[in-house]
Amino acid sequence: MAKVAIVTGGTRGIGEAISLALKDMGITVVANYGGNAAKAKEFTDRTGIPAYQWDVGDHEACLAGCEAVVKEHGPIDIVVNNAGITRDGTMQRMSCDDWNEVIRVNLGGCFNMAKATYPGMKDRGWGRIVNIGSINGQAGQYGQVNYAAAKSGIHGFTKALAQEGARSGVTVNAIAPGYIDTEMVAAVPPPVLEKIVAKIPVGRLGQASEIARGVAFLCSDEGAFITGSTLSINGGQHMY
Ligand code: NDP
Repeated sequence: MAKVAIVTGGTRGIGEAISLALKDMGITVVANYGGNAAKAKEFTDRTGIPAYQWDVGDHEACLAGCEAVVKEHGPIDIVVNNAGITRDGTMQRMSCDDWNEVIRVNLGGCFNMAKATYPGMKDRGWGRIVNIGSINGQAGQYGQVNYAAAKSGIHGFTKALAQEGARSGVTVNAIAPGYIDTEMVAAVPPPVLEKIVAKIPVGRLGQASEIARGVAFLCSDEGAFITGSTLSINGGQHMY
């Protein structure tokens, strides 16, 4: 029986590359998305991967969404918590709404998806949870206290849940991407982006497929001894 994976925010950007990499491994992949239905339809038409809309920051919506996926495709073995948003601004300008929304979606989404899927993985004795963190959660970033806090929280969440799942065959890991060539990074003003690229030792942005290969390995049987780790894929921009 093919394993079943959900990739949140799996219809575009890094998530799309992850959905395709897992499909290439023979896994039955379901992509979740937040609201861009036109992009989701184009993605499904092109790849054959079904797309389900729900807000990962909404606990009940995650439970209902995962229940629908199980009914249609069977028990969920793999979750990639990739959905993420930014609401950047310096502390003086950042509103409470900007803070709450980024924590709700980026960090709350990991909790909500784990609540919906981790108990089943544990019962069946096999599971993979991969959380997409960020270099900015490791090193901090000017104008991103909300995003850096959420992503740093994801790294802590990963280590804690890894300890709970280890004896039951459920691994929990994070990937901390550096700057990857997606719409999220295209939104960064060009002069700022030029300065960022100048600080990347390999001298370029990363590709979404380079993150996806890391996720694919962590989701494989060969990745069974890796748990609670954060894999940095960042062109050498931040090393520790
Ligand atoms: P994109 O902005 O290109 O895509 C974001 C995805 O998340 C979309 O599929 C979007 O759905 C989905 N999404 C957003 N909000 C929600 C929500 N509330 N519920 C469900 N889905 C939602 O992002 P990237 O591909 O650039 O980033 C993917 C992940 O990687 C994010 O977690 C990001 O923080 C992280 N990351 C990205 C880096 C980069 O350089 N790009 C660097 C480090 C980390 P929809 O299409 O419907 O809007």
